[in-house]
Amino acid sequence: MSKASTSTTSKISSFVLMIIFVTLALSLTALILALYAFPQNPEAAGYLLLIGFLGVGLSTYVLLQTRRRILRLRIEATSITTTIECKKCGFKSLREFQRGDYIFKEVEPCQKCNDKMLITAIFREIKGKRKEGFPS
Ligand SMILES: [Zn+2]
Repeated sequence: MSKASTSTTSKISSFVLMIIFVTLALSLTALILALYAFPQNPEAAGYLLLIGFLGVGLSTYVLLQTRRRILRLRIEATSITTTIECKKCGFKSLREFQRGDYIFKEVEPCQKCNDKMLITAIFREIKGKRKEGFPS
């Protein structure tokens, strides 16, 4: 389920990016046209200049907003996992990271031999992404 939502997010963001770049290109065209039109028609050039700046401003704003939203989604999609290991029988279990967890902390007794278990690893996991794609 999380994999499907991730691909939907990237599809939406690439669509938004396309619109932003089209707007940006049109705005730049308007700015260039304004420069050419200025000697003959300063009033029209003024309007083109206004449109151009509005377009550039708007697309930059949307781009920043989208980037922020993608970053937030990326943070939400990550989770921290704690590995608990029994030193006596080697039983291993994974659970969500809990506040106050640290490596070599003693936690709940082992499900198999009732001995004390230790936290051996704490790592961040990206949901819906394979380990090969993990950025180093
Ligand atoms: Zn054990």
